Amino acid sequence: LLEVRDVHKTFTTGPRAVRALRGVSLSVRPGEIVGLVGESGSGKSTVANLILGLEHPDAGDIRYQDRALPDWLARSARGYRGAVQAVFQDPVQAMDSRKTIGWSVAEPLVIHRVARGAAARERVADLLRSVHLDPALADRYPQQISGGQAQRAGIARALALEPALLVCDEAVSALDVSVQAQILNLLLEIQDRLGTAMLFISHALPVVRHLADSMVVMYAGTVVEQGPTEAVCQAARHPYTRLLISSSP
Ligand code: ATP
Ligand code: MG
Repeated sequence: LLEVRDVHKTFTTGPRAVRALRGVSLSVRPGEIVGLVGESGSGKSTVANLILGLEHPDAGDIRYQDRALPDWLARSARGYRGAVQAVFQDPVQAMDSRKTIGWSVAEPLVIHRVARGAAARERVADLLRSVHLDPALADRYPQQISGGQAQRAGIARALALEPALLVCDEAVSALDVSVQAQILNLLLEIQDRLGTAMLFISHALPVVRHLADSMVVMYAGTVVEQGPTEAVCQAARHPYTRLLISSSP
């Protein structure tokens, strides 16, 4: 479904250059959950931003359904943005505080001209139910619901266009442990019910182990480990991965 090949990215701010990615390759098959772990600053969010088309690689390429990303963005940006959706760490920040939850969930439907008016409202109610939220929450504002509810609403919004791939960057990191577990189970349910593939970025190994079919470990802008989740955990080669495993509960 998605192929990232030998991608390089350097950020230059003033006289300083940060080589954020030094040749990163990974792939996500249809319906597969790939966990991406790595220490802070290892380049995980940069990978996410490149896949989402928010940044552009200096070298290497990203292909979705065998078509290069620049080609998608030039010829059917809407199609790509509908197919590849994102869930970020702070759901409240991701939504417009002046707009209701219902409006935020409906927005992609309206922008992509999938539904509007009463049809959009009905679809929003269905989407909220699908993430186990009361459709009545559609009338509230982001500040008026809990963090867990807001993340469910963020997921409902991301699912509105029935994406084939969800890029989740630290999507549960800001939530308390019991809410985290509920959201992870919701993501597993979505994978099962809709066949949605996910690139799930996290610095927490137990979370990735619970969720991911395969995993990728990054260290200092490179991929140091990659394969089926349990196989990687059983036979970790890189010292960072070993440390991660030995320090996880
Ligand atoms: P975390 O776990 O803390 O979220 P990360 O693995 O997501 O970390 P990135 O955000 O991808 O790491 O950052 C990788 C490196 O690139 C870091 O050194 C960071 O400071 C740098 N970087 C990221 N984005 C930018 C930017 N827009 N401008 C300059 N430097 C950046
Ligand atoms: Mg990050």
